[in-house]
Amino acid sequence: MTSEQFSRLSDIINNAQNIVIVSHKNPDGDAIGSSLGLRSILFKNQKQAKVIVPDSFPGFLRFLPDSKSIWFFDKMKEQCTQALESADLIFILDFNTLKRIDEIGNIIAKNPCPIVLIDHHPEPDIKTPYTYHRINVSSTSELVYEFAQKLYPKINIGAKAATCLYAGLVTDTGSFRHNLHEKTHLTAGKLLQAGADHQQIMLEIFDSNSLNRTKLLGYSLSEKLQVDFSTGVAYIALSQEELKRFEYKKGDTEGFVNIALGIEGVNAAVLLTELNEELTKLSFRSHGDFVVNTFAHEYFNGGGHKNAAGGAFHGNITAATEYLLKNIPQLIKMNLEKLRS
Ligand code: 5GP
Ligand code: MN
Repeated sequence: MTSEQFSRLSDIINNAQNIVIVSHKNPDGDAIGSSLGLRSILFKNQKQAKVIVPDSFPGFLRFLPDSKSIWFFDKMKEQCTQALESADLIFILDFNTLKRIDEIGNIIAKNPCPIVLIDHHPEPDIKTPYTYHRINVSSTSELVYEFAQKLYPKINIGAKAATCLYAGLVTDTGSFRHNLHEKTHLTAGKLLQAGADHQQIMLEIFDSNSLNRTKLLGYSLSEKLQVDFSTGVAYIALSQEELKRFEYKKGDTEGFVNIALGIEGVNAAVLLTELNEELTKLSFRSHGDFVVNTFAHEYFNGGGHKNAAGGAFHGNITAATEYLLKNIPQLIKMNLEKLRS
């Protein structure tokens, strides 16, 4: 965004009456953290905003200030549609393609109001003059912090916003392990100064597991983890029946795929979770130069970052696993070709 566009946007924000903030399906810590963080910053500047996401978020994010104010499109279609249709300014956060918000995308496309995109995923296919985008950054939450500093240079963002944005930073960096840049630590420091409580946030997000989730993790690692050391690919496939056995709740499998990736000799890891007989979700993780987002895009209609991507397969867990295994050679080939080029 040029400085001219930024100052025009600043006027638009000041004059807006109905601001809506939208983030992606299966919202994660960064989606919810950046959205609630921005909402809170706008509120500090006398601007009300409504946060809308396509569906529910993991329970470990419920502690975030004002998380109860979020509207879920799948549960409140009418109210959400009305809010989106009457919005005079829409922020879209933490996604780069309208596919990631399902039906909400069609409603937004019909509203001629200004759209502000704040995101860190590669190659956004959403075109708006008000694009605040960079990929060499930890998270959308970090970008929201930067954006807020530019918009309101004298602002103290407050502990509420700081908590939300810090949650986005720690979740998207896997507790400061990846997606990390010098500036990430500087931003984290500023958020601590503004009132984010590191210990409390870490406790809520990473160390408040239900017994069922902990047992599901144990079961997944001891009974379901498969590693092929010849390709360096590991995977865990969980059926609906298995998830039900451990009373699965959204977010319960968070981090499982990273544990599989952490095995010596593994370059890429995949977690497959069967949502129903017709749909299986896949999560991909990789190390360094081994890239998974192109594979997720080409084979599973998904995408994401180089080392962290997701997608879906229309079919049950057995069919999804077969399809994945059949195409692993393509994943390897893509990466070998890239390394050679
Ligand atoms: P996760 O595996 O945690 O669900 O997602 C990892 C990364 O991939 C996140 O950055 C997320 O935004 C992206 N991602 C997950 N699922 C999809 C998908 O279906 N489509 C696209 N384009 N990106 C996805
Ligand atoms: Mn993110």
